[in-house]
This record gives sequence, structure tokens and C-alpha cells, in this order.
Amino acid sequence: MAEVHRTFVYWRISCTASPRVGESGGANDVRILLVEDSAIERRQIGAYLREWGLDFQAVDNGTEAWSILQSPDAPNLALLDWVVPGVEGIELCRKIRALGINGTYTYTVMLTAKDRKCDLLTAMEAGADDYLAKPVDPSELRARILVGKRILDLQQSLRFAATHDFLTKLLNRAEILASLKRELARSERDGKPVAVIMADVDHFKRINDSLGHAAGDSVLKELAQRLQSDLRPYDLAGRYGGEEFLLLLPNCGLQTALRRANEIRTLVGRDMIVSASANVPVTASMGVTASNPAQDWTIEDLLQQADSALYHAKQSGRNCVRAFSAATNPIVRV
Ligand SMILES: [Mg+2]
Repeated sequence: MAEVHRTFVYWRISCTASPRVGESGGANDVRILLVEDSAIERRQIGAYLREWGLDFQAVDNGTEAWSILQSPDAPNLALLDWVVPGVEGIELCRKIRALGINGTYTYTVMLTAKDRKCDLLTAMEAGADDYLAKPVDPSELRARILVGKRILDLQQSLRFAATHDFLTKLLNRAEILASLKRELARSERDGKPVAVIMADVDHFKRINDSLGHAAGDSVLKELAQRLQSDLRPYDLAGRYGGEEFLLLLPNCGLQTALRRANEIRTLVGRDMIVSASANVPVTASMGVTASNPAQDWTIEDLLQQADSALYHAKQSGRNCVRAFSAATNPIVRV
């Protein structure tokens, strides 16, 4: 590839008194990628974005843009010039849409010269959300970004609702299982174990029967908080069933997982849970297993192992942790 003049600007202005387009008060701030090979346009648009306190990067070619868009924590709003060296804007649009099937959404605005308006349908068909005529008018640019931000917020709320449990706000069953699949694949790739803790509230039916479902719900909500309060940022917690929870600890072997499960169990049972009708003493039993990169275990195997260990914990009098042992409980595959 010919040596392309590279421009890379990263700007973040967070402290400002005036209202900004980029301020949401939430985690879903707009992060913009500007792809424009004209230095004049790039500088001009960059100056507007900077003035509005928006977080942006600017590149002058499609190849670099594509590599940025695939990175973790990639920008979520792209301003794409139609004709740029490397991967062209329209092709980037198609690639962005193909990338989006894993659930992330990149709001895409095509920048186009006034005499190319006939190409807009092509851009929309390729997956562009909007377009903007060049030279860019600042009010129009700001309006496009506001709309983009609204769509991104909406998309994030929908995604949260689709992947989280309504009551406890932990990952829902489908999402924690999808996470386990991803973590197991990563574990095999990196040759590191991933631990699975299955936790079940002891005598939950009694709580529901004696205090009512509202108290039962309060218990589950508080328990979910306690279960995840001691997790590392990359650990995952989900509601597996009614009063059953799954914790995934990447890069964690069985012995460490056992120790951590015991710490979490202690934390869960330490204080009574305060509900509207009563203070409820709550404990949990836990079954622990860990993947072994040397063995070809599936997610079904790991779930079965954790479940069997949990069963042993219940049999041992509850409020305790048991580990799965392949020696005493070999997996039978049919
Ligand atoms: Mg151009």
C-alpha cells in the first residue's frame, strides 16, 4: 500500500459548563470516527466536534478506519466520506453492518458532495443511517449526531432488555449461557481454565410460601447484588433459573474458584435481607467446577458438573460449597 498521510486525532473534553451534544449522563456516550481524506474537510468537521466537546478520532483512509471499527470499545458513530483511499465509504458501510450482527450498533452517516445525491439510495441500501452534504453545515451535522445518539440510546436499552433478567438485572439465562460458550472457547484457545459456580438459594420455597412472592422477589434482588459484589470486572453473573444463579470466573482454576465461592457464600449469608414484610435470613448452596483445557468438555458437561456439585452441597446440609470431582462422578456421554 502506498504511504498514506496519516492523521490521528483523539480528543476528549469532559469538563464543561455548557450543554453538549455528547452528554448523556449514561455509559452510552457517543464516540465518533471521522473518515475523510480531504484535509480541509477533516479539519473543519474536527473543529466542530471539538467545539461541542465530542469524543472523536479522525482518519484519512478506509483501511485504518476499518481496523479501528473492529477494535474493542470501537466508536459507535461513523461519519464516512464516500471516496477515501483504502476501503471506500460505501464498502465500510456494508462491513459495519456485517460486524453489527453480534449486537453492537454503529450509527453511520455518509458524507457526500451535493452533486452525488443520486447515490444516496445505494448508501442507504449498503446500511447507512443518514447522509450529510458537503461542505458540511454545522447545524446539520449537530442534528445528525443528535439523532444518532437517540438511536444509539434506544438500541442500548433494547439490548439491555434482551440480555438481562428483568427482576435481578443480572444477565438472563440465554445471555449467561452464550457467555459461557464464549468463555469456554476462549479458555480452550488460551489454554486457561474458566470456573463455573452454580448457586441456589436454600429453602427459597419456604420464603415464598411464608412471606409471599413480593418478599421472595426482594430476596432474589438483594441476593443478586451480593453475588456480584465481590466479582472482578470480567467475571459474569446471570440468573439461570428461578432461584438459581450462574457465576463465570474466566482464567480461574478449581481451587481458586472454591475459595472464592466460599467467600461469596459467606457474604450472601452474613446479614439478613430486609424486605417490606420481614427481615429474612438467607443462605445459598454452591456447586463449583472448572474447565480443563486438556479435556474436551462442552458447556453441557460443565453445567452438569456444576449441577451435580450443587446437589452434593444440598445433600451436605446446605449453606456450603462443593466441587465437582471427575474421579467420583465421571461424565457419561451418550
Ligand atoms: Mg474523499
